[in-house]
Amino acid sequence: MTRLSAITPSGHAHIGNHLGALRRWARDGGPGDLYFVSDLHAMTVSYNPPRLRALTRELLAVLVAEGIDPARLFVQSDLVRELGALSWVLECTCSYGEAARMTQFKAKGGGTGARLGLLTYPVLMAADILLQGADSVPVGDDQTQHVELARVLARRFNSTFGEVFVVPSATTPPTAARVRDLAAPERKMSKSTRDAAGVVFVLDNPDLIRRKLSRAVTDSYDVVAYRPEKQPGVANLLEIYAACVGVSPREVEFRTYGELKTAVADAVIEELRPLREKVIELLADPAELDRIRKDGAERARDRAAHRLDSALRLAGVA
Ligand code: ATP
Ligand code: MG
Repeated sequence: MTRLSAITPSGHAHIGNHLGALRRWARDGGPGDLYFVSDLHAMTVSYNPPRLRALTRELLAVLVAEGIDPARLFVQSDLVRELGALSWVLECTCSYGEAARMTQFKAKGGGTGARLGLLTYPVLMAADILLQGADSVPVGDDQTQHVELARVLARRFNSTFGEVFVVPSATTPPTAARVRDLAAPERKMSKSTRDAAGVVFVLDNPDLIRRKLSRAVTDSYDVVAYRPEKQPGVANLLEIYAACVGVSPREVEFRTYGELKTAVADAVIEELRPLREKVIELLADPAELDRIRKDGAERARDRAAHRLDSALRLAGVA
């Protein structure tokens, strides 16, 4: 089985990415699983090119530092030629209506003024999946429709031109912590949030982590209880603590909000310490990271080559 997962360099990796996804990728990854930094997807909205390049590198370092096997890792744009070719073939099998009805396109402001890439990126995502021959794509609710499209396009290609692609399925990743923004617990913590006050980044130093946690929004109940509906801020802190130390948020007991925040800060600092140190070490050794990237790109291209060649040939081109 090949499960394919990606993270977009739309911002710095945060504790939510780590606890909710990356840590598990490293722990539960099977020998066939693949992971990539989806930098081409970051271009569908306004972005800054040097920042994109730096974030891509940083995220690759984070994935390596998490302990994901480098042989299973690659950067999406290292396959830009292959992906560009297959995307075009797939776009020519996909109707405008199929792309325009993606709820993510509508949610992200899709309309006649949107970038065409925002409309077509689910097709690029289909190319990501089909080129690697992934059969399972673990995604949240917001992405199941895109995997569904990849499935439709794979079936359509196979039946129209000839059997080339593995038909992928969206799978539900195991439940993990859903970390909320410390300053606005009604929304989840996100890389792309502009205000970083409520976001703990993997690379934040311990003092900054402590400061962000000490300012975390709580409430006026003044009781440390796990009641996500009534006390979302406190529940979030309890969940972060529980995920870091490996207990259930219901069994955690603290007397005051101050005590809770100090304990969460300590736990988060300890949880992130080895990861942060390793990322800093990797970023300081450009040759090693370049080697990992190049090696990953070669493997990913090798996996893609025969499917791309067959697809182009069957489609009557190249
Ligand atoms: P963006 O703002 O660009 O959407 P993001 O922080 O939501 O960034 P994604 O790239 O969308 O990050 O997601 C990468 C992985 O991290 C996914 O598996 C996603 O489920 C997980 N993830 C993202 N945010 C959180 C969070 N707050 N808590 C737990 N897991 C999260
Ligand atoms: Mg997201």
